[in-house]
Amino acid sequence: MSDIQTPGEAPTLRLLSLGAGVQSTTLALMACRGELAEFGKLDGAIFADTGWEPLRVYKHLTGDLAAELESASIPLHLTSKGNLREDTLDPDHRFVSVPYFTLAPEGTTVRDEIIDTDEHGQNVIVGYSEPRLATRREREGMGRRQCTSEYKLGPINRKVRELLGAKAPEFRTVPRGRVAEQWIGFSTDEVHRVNDRQENRYTRKRYPLLELGMSRKDCERYLRATGWSSVSKSACIGCPFHGNAQWRELRDHYPEEWADAVDFDRQIRKGGTRTGAGELDGEAFLHRSRVPLDLAPIDRVTAREWADRQIDIFDDLAEHGDPDGCSPYGCRSGVALQEVQS
Ligand code: SF4
Repeated sequence: MSDIQTPGEAPTLRLLSLGAGVQSTTLALMACRGELAEFGKLDGAIFADTGWEPLRVYKHLTGDLAAELESASIPLHLTSKGNLREDTLDPDHRFVSVPYFTLAPEGTTVRDEIIDTDEHGQNVIVGYSEPRLATRREREGMGRRQCTSEYKLGPINRKVRELLGAKAPEFRTVPRGRVAEQWIGFSTDEVHRVNDRQENRYTRKRYPLLELGMSRKDCERYLRATGWSSVSKSACIGCPFHGNAQWRELRDHYPEEWADAVDFDRQIRKGGTRTGAGELDGEAFLHRSRVPLDLAPIDRVTAREWADRQIDIFDDLAEHGDPDGCSPYGCRSGVALQEVQS
């Protein structure tokens, strides 16, 4: 058992944040089967839809998983802020900040810091050099990741407030004393994603898989043993956090989704629609090489994929790369998020 525990007082509601990937599906099934009785009865599961998940994720969510939840009388709540892909490309829509890989134009200049030592022996910046041409590496950057907050965390919190009794149509204010315990499906290999900061007065987080000491592999074993072995990772089709293996999987097995991502990549070269954000100085890409996706070197095996192969050469994960899904509470970069007010 982990020492991550929740405070004593019973919550008004217990709600699972359902990403529909391996870990949260495991939690949902365990709750449906009465295997989480020590955590109390689950009152609902919430899925925030970015509108751009792979078809297989939607089929899993609205098919077998929805049926299982229904048979256990656990309501499934779907919520959405809009379609992330469409909004990104819509000139009438406010700028959607996705963590693209960026490349500043050739000819960009930088100045080097001139460092000296002060009277306490500390290094201090005492000036800057004349401008010089930036190297290719210095021209590389990354866009801010607010998409998860805007398209997942925000809609989930709004649904939580609604379920706790906040008044329509804004669902802003939760009546005093009403609190939701939010179950988050981080497994023991994702403990670095845990953020116990109290973000509002109406939710408190709980991590049942951590309390049970369950890893992602344990979840996969559970799913295999219960006949749910085909659960996919959930993430937007064109998420820049995909590893090469995920891009290859799209290209080789889901050509329509690959074509969709390649087309999107072409269209975001100037950073997508920039309404409210100003012109992007340079270019944006989905692949970390900062090369158009259909030309990017996705067949090269990364050190991580190679390491996975050394550990378990027969494991499907070795080919399918980054095990982290897109969680509203610690997205694929592993950084915990705060809600963006919009
Ligand atoms: S999966 Fe990627 S693109 Fe989609 S919300 Fe998460 S970080 Fe953004």
